[in-house]
Amino acid sequence: MSLRFFNTLTQQVEEFTPLEGQTVRMYTCGPTVWNYAHIGNLRTFTFVDILRRWLRCRGYRLDHVMNITDVDDRIIKQAIEAGQSIEDYTAAYTKAFLEDTATLRLERPERLPAATAHIPAMARLIAGLRDKGCTYESEGSIYFSIAAFPAYGKLSHADFSGIRLGTRVDSDRYEKADARDFALWKAPKPGEPFWETEVGPGRPGWHIECSAMAMHYLGETLDIHAGGVDLVFPHHENEIAQSEALTGKPFARFWLHSEHLILESQTMSKTLGNFITLRDVLAEGYSPEALRYLMASVPYRKKLNFTFDSLKAAGTAIERLRNFKLRLETARFPEGASEFLLARAGDALKRFEESMDDDLNTAEALAAVFEFVREANSAMDAGDFHAGNIAPASDLLARFDAVFDVLRPGEKAAGITDVEVEALITERAQARKARDFARADAIRRRLFEQDVILEDTKDGARWKRK
Ligand code: AMP
Ligand code: ZN
Repeated sequence: MSLRFFNTLTQQVEEFTPLEGQTVRMYTCGPTVWNYAHIGNLRTFTFVDILRRWLRCRGYRLDHVMNITDVDDRIIKQAIEAGQSIEDYTAAYTKAFLEDTATLRLERPERLPAATAHIPAMARLIAGLRDKGCTYESEGSIYFSIAAFPAYGKLSHADFSGIRLGTRVDSDRYEKADARDFALWKAPKPGEPFWETEVGPGRPGWHIECSAMAMHYLGETLDIHAGGVDLVFPHHENEIAQSEALTGKPFARFWLHSEHLILESQTMSKTLGNFITLRDVLAEGYSPEALRYLMASVPYRKKLNFTFDSLKAAGTAIERLRNFKLRLETARFPEGASEFLLARAGDALKRFEESMDDDLNTAEALAAVFEFVREANSAMDAGDFHAGNIAPASDLLARFDAVFDVLRPGEKAAGITDVEVEALITERAQARKARDFARADAIRRRLFEQDVILEDTKDGARWKRK
């Protein structure tokens, strides 16, 4: 089976291939840097990371653009309140965002354009729409007339035919029930930043930012456009309307939307005030890998109900996999190979890949890995795991980790964990029993390198950290 995604536009699961060659041209909506990202936002960015990594595992190259929205209503309000320029105000939150995403091991998109660096491209687009008769002006602002785009509503699958023509909305975020002509360009207001452009002085609306930067870097038709589910309406609906009204071409072939992270049955949101940041999670003593694993393990089109218990369970799952990896790397196995386990490793890899191909079904992909690890661990205990079974098991873990990226310990947690020390001490005791002293010494040396000192007593080995 081939790689398939659920496309919000068609409401179908469709086979995915890029339009041109092996490069996927992808645009994902980035953060509005008015505050710290909360873990709901980070869930969406983690989904994008999993999507990137799986596309690469399937042999594609990426040209991925993610914008930084560094001018909008909320930013202006907050910057004024803080007595700062919007540049200074947003620089701090952009930096925090990049730190948080790096901590979560999210790959950097190929391009990270800031909205304020692309104002002329936005004005150009608006001028083009004006020339086509899709816009009108009112008090220095320019609005997109949704009557100029009869397919309006095709992404959110809503019927807007009954709305009153010519009514308009100035704010960037609003509900379907408030669908109106939306602002492409906002007239300058006292105390607010503005730019002089070919469509006059002012600042861009949020929706035009993404259309302009997407087409500037990726051309008129993208392979994939993605974001959180709250962006379907109005943001992405408006992006389609203004882009397609201008070019007459489909703006994006595949629209992917991830469901929200929920806290105590409410969507996590700064406006609702129920949010947790990555910094909060780390301050509670959880590792970034645990959060990454938790967010990646729930398929992106399912709501993720966040609890600290599930975060703890994610940490335990990672430990199990790391211990298995350590055992693979350090234990001595008899020569030869178990045919049964070779077949099981092959099946697990196939199931992992088919699940990821199936609209990134990460839960099913993980189940394949854990089932194999359980069987392989039992086989090791029973002496049925052979040297020839190591490579296929490592390959499975490598494929898993190319997407999930949790096996490497974090920088702060660098060094060996207590569980890993205990596992190595058990291995060493077994080696000594089998009179394999070279191996026993090698394990002692490895522990010593990790600042662990072993002391053999009549009750067995004791250990402490240097
Ligand atoms: P913003 O910084 O508000 O522009 O949002 C950045 C991204 O986070 C967008 O793709 C939103 O759709 C997404 N988002 C916002 N709230 C949540 C949530 N509770 N769960 C998952 N994604 C979210
Ligand atoms: Zn956007």
